[in-house]
Amino acid sequence: MSTFAKKLIAWHSVSGRSGLPWQGNRDPYAVWVSEIMLQQTQVATVLERYPRFMKRFPTVKKLAAADIDEVLAEWAGLGYYSRARNLHACAKQVMQEFSGKFPNDPILLEQLKGIGRSTAGAIAAFAFHERAPILDANVKRILARLFAVDGAIQDKVVNDRLWQLANDLLPNQPENMPVYTQALMDFGATWCTARKPVCMGVEKKCPFAKECQANLSDQVLTLPKKMIKAKSPEFDCDMLLVRSGNFVLLQKRPSKAIWGGLWSLPESGWRSKTEQACKGPPTLKELLTNTLPRENIAGLAKSIKELKQGNQIKHIFTHRRLWMQIWEGRSAKTIEFLGEDLKWVPLGQLGRYGLPQPIKILLQGLSLARGDDLKN
Ligand code: SF4
Repeated sequence: MSTFAKKLIAWHSVSGRSGLPWQGNRDPYAVWVSEIMLQQTQVATVLERYPRFMKRFPTVKKLAAADIDEVLAEWAGLGYYSRARNLHACAKQVMQEFSGKFPNDPILLEQLKGIGRSTAGAIAAFAFHERAPILDANVKRILARLFAVDGAIQDKVVNDRLWQLANDLLPNQPENMPVYTQALMDFGATWCTARKPVCMGVEKKCPFAKECQANLSDQVLTLPKKMIKAKSPEFDCDMLLVRSGNFVLLQKRPSKAIWGGLWSLPESGWRSKTEQACKGPPTLKELLTNTLPRENIAGLAKSIKELKQGNQIKHIFTHRRLWMQIWEGRSAKTIEFLGEDLKWVPLGQLGRYGLPQPIKILLQGLSLARGDDLKN
């Protein structure tokens, strides 16, 4: 076994995380769901949501057979909804192309929807004891520091070098792959962290302190290097919050857009914030035209007489900021069939729909539904 792998496994036996519900599980379905959920979500949130997801969809067969709206509703609040759409699509792929069994070869795993090279490595290592490397952001940081890898980690040459290092350091014995992979994840998440690595603390403890090139050359906090990000662009849009009796008008978002496939309030296209600053408030006709499908405008315009300017909600995405101007109105009646992607939803059934988090909060805040309507 490489010295690195040996030391890391020894470190894990004393200081690694234990007791997480997805640890020690060799079921590739369970490993896959936990890996996808952990990608952009805090461990504390996954601890709460992972058991719930597994209870609702205990097997790949159950997940593949579920309706996408059900999956998105279960995912609501976890963000990055393409993960939920990909989970569903991948489950179908596993059922159709692999007779319901995940392949053990990381190259085949990588062909599945939503599974990247590092996730494929993690599934192969945990579930099948394959000697496959992982290289998520935490591992990139550890390796960039240990070997003082210069250059931005987004750079292809740098990335290739890190993959090579990740591969070279693997333990020789396949049975050590689960503990080694878990140790690598834990070491990056708890000891070799971005801002407060243990070697910078008072105790200066780290099993690799004597060979870590970043530590020896005083570059710990400057590695890994990243490309400088441009300032996030800012947008705004109008949203209709129209109620009729006990119903609210919701629109399904296109699957490729942000919050793809979720149900939300009818919304205008996004404008760059500077564009809108020069304009006055929109008229009722402009609002309906900009937010509703063309075939529904005339019918709804007859029953929605007025839209009042409500709150403006700010939402920060990873790469952009959005201000949503809410326009509140009442409709005299509900028209039964508006189309597949636009419908009147009873307030008591909102919990069955996957809603973007700020819209869910808005509906709760306005007491449109009883608190428990949105929780299940
Ligand atoms: S010495 Fe510091 S930077 Fe190097 S591996 Fe240990 S914690 Fe990370």
